[in-house]
Amino acid sequence: MALAFDEYGRPFIILKEQEQKTRLSGLEAQKANISAGRAVSRILRTSLGPKGMDKMLQSPDGDVTITNDGATILEQMDVDNQIAKLMVELSRSQDYEIGDGTTGVVVMAGALLEQAERLLERGIHPIRIAEGYEMASRIAVEHLECIAQKFDFGPTNIEPLVQTCMTTLSSKIVNRCKRALAEISVKAVLSVADLERKDVNLDLIKVEGKVGGKLEDTELIYGITVDKDMSHPQMPKQIEDAKIAILTCPFEPPKPKTKHKVDIDTVEKFQTLRQQEQKYFDGMVQKCKDVGATLVICQWGFDDEANHLLMHQNLPAVRWVGGVELELIAIATGGRIVPRFQELTPEKLGRAGLVREKSFGTTKDKMLYIEHCANSRAVTIFIRGECNVEMLGRLFPVQCRIDWAFILFSFVFDDALGNKMMIEETKRSIHDALCVARNLIRNNFIVYGGGAAEISCSIAVEAVADKYPGVEQYAIRAFADALDAVPMALAENSGLQPIETLSAVKSQQLEENNPHFGIDCNDVGTNDMFEQNVFETLIGKQQQILLATQVVKMILKIDDVISPSDY
Ligand code: ADP
Repeated sequence: MALAFDEYGRPFIILKEQEQKTRLSGLEAQKANISAGRAVSRILRTSLGPKGMDKMLQSPDGDVTITNDGATILEQMDVDNQIAKLMVELSRSQDYEIGDGTTGVVVMAGALLEQAERLLERGIHPIRIAEGYEMASRIAVEHLECIAQKFDFGPTNIEPLVQTCMTTLSSKIVNRCKRALAEISVKAVLSVADLERKDVNLDLIKVEGKVGGKLEDTELIYGITVDKDMSHPQMPKQIEDAKIAILTCPFEPPKPKTKHKVDIDTVEKFQTLRQQEQKYFDGMVQKCKDVGATLVICQWGFDDEANHLLMHQNLPAVRWVGGVELELIAIATGGRIVPRFQELTPEKLGRAGLVREKSFGTTKDKMLYIEHCANSRAVTIFIRGECNVEMLGRLFPVQCRIDWAFILFSFVFDDALGNKMMIEETKRSIHDALCVARNLIRNNFIVYGGGAAEISCSIAVEAVADKYPGVEQYAIRAFADALDAVPMALAENSGLQPIETLSAVKSQQLEENNPHFGIDCNDVGTNDMFEQNVFETLIGKQQQILLATQVVKMILKIDDVISPSDY
């Protein structure tokens, strides 16, 4: 602090920046960081697994999101603490690399932090803990490779892929339709996959949604959809082998500019003008027909006269198509966007195997499906969604239904809100399923879910810990205990006794030397995940362990936290 004077001689105080900061160092800093990380992990813990709870998040502008996807929850939580932000990044990285397991990775990191705190209290240096964790994670990742199984599937045998996607979807709100959605996801991925190069470009899969209808009506379209309909109700609703003129010029005669004036004071003049206009329309329609177009997609509108003429000339048309959609249509159908009728040539027409207008139930809602496009293998998953009573039950379990009664009412009265949320959550769930299918195409090895893989790794890591002479053995053992956190959370979230269930399953794995045993979350009657068809991809599980370890190591290595103080 220093006293200074301004140009008028008035005194003022200079506070040095450091004095406005608070500082935590050593064990205190590590403990504060650990508790911030654990707080985030605790929030997600209850969302893990098929019986996990969903979270409701409201944005500052009032948008409500209901989800149990870890990455989405954290993204929307608006956390302030830097360590908590690291956990958000952790979940985001898992989402980016793998697309699934975003909750599990944070739960795992939280468990590693909890174990680390105990070791710190016992006086073990954070670097030794970090090194022990690194060793243990390597052991776990290698062990996963030993217990992984090859997963055989092919374009004609998609059932195994469907089963894996179903495991992912079983923990989501859309659980009721998991079979249908899993099949759609697998077919979508296979239709854009390059099986020889083992690669999938997920950008070619568009996931669109429209409020209304039932979740069961969700469909896979081998092409693209446009939220538009034919400009005249009597135009054909289906065009096979369509040749599409994509126009940014209006179907209108040129309008007189403001400085020009047209005086029509006799019937003859009016009729001449009308004939002239008609000639213009005729010329435009004829030009399209001459180049061989069987469908016109136009960025601008056209008046009733032109519309009628188009219908009469048997040239179906779609109007008011936005610029982005127009580009998408042009790319997919291999056509060119034409700004003037004079420039229209047969080569500039886009091609599609089938263009059809689809109407939804008794509503006036219509969409245009452009399928089997010439230039693209792009597919669209078109989600329909309703928020029915059964789903509301899942969104708001019994114990919190009374607290949330007012929200239930708002759902009943504001159906559209519920439907929109359903569609958004379905989009997120389908994204996870698509990622799982893509991961299996990249690497077709799987491990068993329901915590089975974690329990097996825990046993393997524990066995190595005993043989390790250094202080790190405590950290390795702690890592083994942290691995148990996932099956414990699964058991707890399913209403089972966590410790009893875990110890029973662990001893079963040891006795029978079988890494398939996990937590029977859905009370099927067997905890053999092989029988239950609960799989996860090997790369997904390995990534979870590696990412969680890296973040925890990073947190443990911070021993000084300097932050602005509150005043
Ligand atoms: P994440 O966002 O991490 O994928 P989820 O809420 O989807 O989290 O839960 C995934 C966990 O639930 C995995 O450990 C998976 O093995 C487990 N799981 C999914 N379905 C089942 C099931 N039917 N029985 C037991 N465990 C399951």
